[in-house]
Parts: sequence; C-alpha cells; structure tokens
Amino acid sequence: MTSVPAPTLPDGRLVTDADVALAYATDASLGSAAPDNFLVVRARDRDDVVAVLEHAQAHRIPVVPQGARTSLCGAAGALQDGIVLNVESLKSVEVIADEKYAVVGPGVINADLKKAVAEYGLAYPPDPASGPMSTIGGNIATNAGGLCCVKYGVTGDYVKGLEVVLPGGEIIHTGHRTAKGVTGLDLTGVFVGSEGQLGVVTEALVRLVPASDPPLTVLATFGSLEAVAAALVRLRAERHGPNLIEVLDRTSLQAVQAMDDFGFPEDAEAVLLVQSDRSGHTQEDVARYAELLTQAGADEVAVADDAQEADALMAGRRALALAVEKMGPHFIEDVCVPVSKLGDLIARSRALCEERGVQILLSGHGGDGNLHPCLFFSDEPGRERAEEAFGLIVETALSMGGTVTGEHGVGSLKRQWLPQELGDAEMARQRAVRAVFDPHGIMNPGRPY
Ligand SMILES: Cc1cc2nc3c(=O)[nH]c(=O)nc-3n(C[C@H](O)[C@H](O)[C@H](O)COP(=O)(O)OP(=O)(O)OC[C@H]3O[C@@H](n4cnc5c(N)ncnc54)[C@H](O)[C@@H]3O)c2cc1C
Repeated sequence: MTSVPAPTLPDGRLVTDADVALAYATDASLGSAAPDNFLVVRARDRDDVVAVLEHAQAHRIPVVPQGARTSLCGAAGALQDGIVLNVESLKSVEVIADEKYAVVGPGVINADLKKAVAEYGLAYPPDPASGPMSTIGGNIATNAGGLCCVKYGVTGDYVKGLEVVLPGGEIIHTGHRTAKGVTGLDLTGVFVGSEGQLGVVTEALVRLVPASDPPLTVLATFGSLEAVAAALVRLRAERHGPNLIEVLDRTSLQAVQAMDDFGFPEDAEAVLLVQSDRSGHTQEDVARYAELLTQAGADEVAVADDAQEADALMAGRRALALAVEKMGPHFIEDVCVPVSKLGDLIARSRALCEERGVQILLSGHGGDGNLHPCLFFSDEPGRERAEEAFGLIVETALSMGGTVTGEHGVGSLKRQWLPQELGDAEMARQRAVRAVFDPHGIMNPGRPY
C-alpha cells in the first residue's frame, strides 16, 4: 500500500493493484529494483499529466516520466516516495504529409510511427534497436540513436517542436510548424535528451523524409579488428556512404546463431554489416562497398542482393539484444569515440576484460564510433571485476576524446562520470538551465542531475 499522496484524477488512472504497480517500477537497466513506496499513474491524456504535475509540485513529490521502460541507464524506474507518470496511452498520430511532419503522442511506439508514415510514402528515420518496444517520448527524452544514424542522424535531428507540461502544470510549446523558423532560442533542443528532468513531453512534431528504397546489405567477414577499423574509416569517407554500418565480434555472432540460423559465420573474428538504401542506386552502392571492404582486408564479402536475405541478416542483428539476455547477467556499455579510434577502443576494452578474467561481447554502431561492449559475470566477485572493467572502458573512451554515452543516456548508472566529461563550470550551467524549468528539482531527480 503506497503512502504517496495521490492527485485527484478520473477513474482508472491511479494503479491500485500492487502487482500491476510493480510492473511499472523498474526499467531494463541492470540492478533496477522497485523502491518500497511509490505511486503509479497511467495518464490517458494531457489533462492527467497537468493534474499530476500541479499536485507533485505543490507537495514536492518526485515524478518519473515514463514510456516503455527500456532505459538501459537507470532513468525510468520508480523513485522512493515518488510518482511514476506513465504516458504510454498517449498514442495519437496525425500525418501532415504535404508539410512532411507528423504530430505524435509520446506513447506511440517507434515502429508503429514508421508504419503509419510509410502509408504516405514517407519515413521517420530514427531507429533504435528497441524500436519495436520503445516510445517516441522516451526516444526524445534520451535523444535515441540507432542503426541508421551514420546516414540519418539521431532522434533530435527529426524533432521540430514539442508540447511539454512543466512541473506545476504549465503547458508550453517549442519549435515551429513551418519548414523554417528561427524565432527565439532553440528550447526544443534543450528538452531533447533531457532524460525526463525538465518536464513531460505530451506531443511532438517530428520531421519526415521521403521513403528510400529497401536496403541491400553487404556482410564482410574479418580475421582482425585492425582490418575492421580500416574498413570503417574507408566507408565513412565514401561520397555516397552507407545508411548502416554495424560491427559484431565473434562472441556476438555465436550468441545470435545460438538462437537461430540468421546466416552469420561463427568463426570470424568480426563482421561488418553494411547497407545502402540510396534510391535507385542500392546495387551500385553495395558493389562499391564490397570492393572497399575487400581492399580494407575483409576475408570474405557476401552481398545479400534480395530483400529476404538482407532481412535475415538484419533480423540477426536485431536479435542480438535477446541473445545477450540469454547469456546471463551483464553490463551493457554505450561509449562513443571518434570513428578512427574505434578499433583501438575495441582492442583496449578486450585487454581490460582479459586482464580481469571478464567475458566481453563487442558490438555496436561502427559507422558512428558507438560501441556497446557487454560484460558478463556469474557471481559477486565476477560482478566486481566486470564493474571495474566497465569503469575503465568509460575512462578509456573519455581519454580518446569520446563520450560516456553515445545514445542510451546518463541516468543514474553513469552520473559518476558526468563531471569528468563536462567539467565543473558546465555542470553548474546545466543545473542552472534545469532550474529554469524545474525550480524545485522534482523531475526525475538524480538522473543524472
Ligand atoms: C533491447 C534494447 C535495445 C536498445 N537499443 C537502443 C538503441 O539502438 N539506441 C538507443 O538510443 N537506445 C537503445 N536502447 C535504450 C532505450 O530503448 C532508449 O533509451 C529509448 O529511447 C527509451 O524509450 P522508452 O519509451 O522505453 O523510455 P523509458 O525507458 O520509459 O524512459 C527513458 C527516459 O525518458 C524519459 N521519458 C520517457 N517518456 C517521457 C516523456 N513523455 N516526457 C519526458 N521524459 C520522458 C524517462 O523519464 C527516462 O528518463 C535499447 C534498449 C533495449 C532494452
């Protein structure tokens, strides 16, 4: 039974069943656990959000805005004595095809938005691997990346404007509905990636682009990580570069193949999956990428030149998260370095784990220099060693001019490294910006500020 004071809301919004509430208490990050005392509200519309934020500010109750709880950095689980404000039911989609944007509720699942706009011959490019589960609100709050960022950029590149409810209940609008518009400071950009710490997104205007051709895929098999690194740099230098460059090491390939036969070689040191979706030119592009990959030192290069084969390979890539889950308890890293340094980061991450007897699986968005090393453990001493290696990988990335997170966010799990990356003056400036919107610090406190 919760003792958090409840806001006044229409029937059906407050979750009164303790077992149902528990389902909203944790996210997908390692160690996420339900606190003793919290309240869950499932908002059905903007008025519910306003009512909760008026109430929470008046009573100084912490609020966790929540989408699908796929956060990997500990940003979306319940807080002690706080309110979880879940907005998954805000699912409206209106496509303004002539103007190439859509007005979207925060609870719309990324993959559903893609389907909805495809009917108009349009595309919404941001594609986190969690796309079949995660929400647009969560994607915006984390500035989610994904597989196609190397060509299309990240979520923030597609957010034209937002409706946000601030703590206290004020509703604000940012951005423009016009194709261009430069009045005022870019507050949309301030909310994108703010990890639920400034307000609750209740509507988003997202930019759409013409749909491209179905992609063709090249699979290149490598015997050395140095050759992978060389290939990445060459692919990035291409005039008509790929829309996707994913790297998977041998452990990743074996994990995926253990689930089903997705067509991956299990004995390679690593593979690169490379795609072109350039309208009218996919075949020409993949032939060129195949040539480049061979020159860069690939042992074998195979072109999946029909959509079915290409889909099977991508299904394998997307199955990786589940394959990793099946391998047991682990940390998922998310560091990003200049692309030219990715090979070095891979080698140093491996060495750090080997020295500590920690099993590591390496995969990531190679074209962005964004690596997701997974570090496994089976007991408490193993966990401590994995944690130590995890910290050293983050510091190695920072020493290479990288960042502690390329896309998953900082949340509670990575806040310890924030001062090292930003410095004291920048931390103070960011806290000051936060206070403009959330003067009492009730929005998702500690994640990370
Ligand atoms: C299998 C798997 C694969 C993943 N792959 C990727 C990937 O490729 N790229 C990537 O970037 N991430 C990835 N992630 C991480 C995660 O999916 C993303 O961070 C995603 O954007 C979170 O969306 P969500 O709806 O689950 O949000 P939640 O996890 O519920 O919340 C995430 C953050 O957003 C805030 N938030 C949610 N909704 C709102 C709102 N309406 N207003 C204000 N704040 C809000 C929360 O407070 C929290 O801080 C992956 C996760 C998993 C489990």
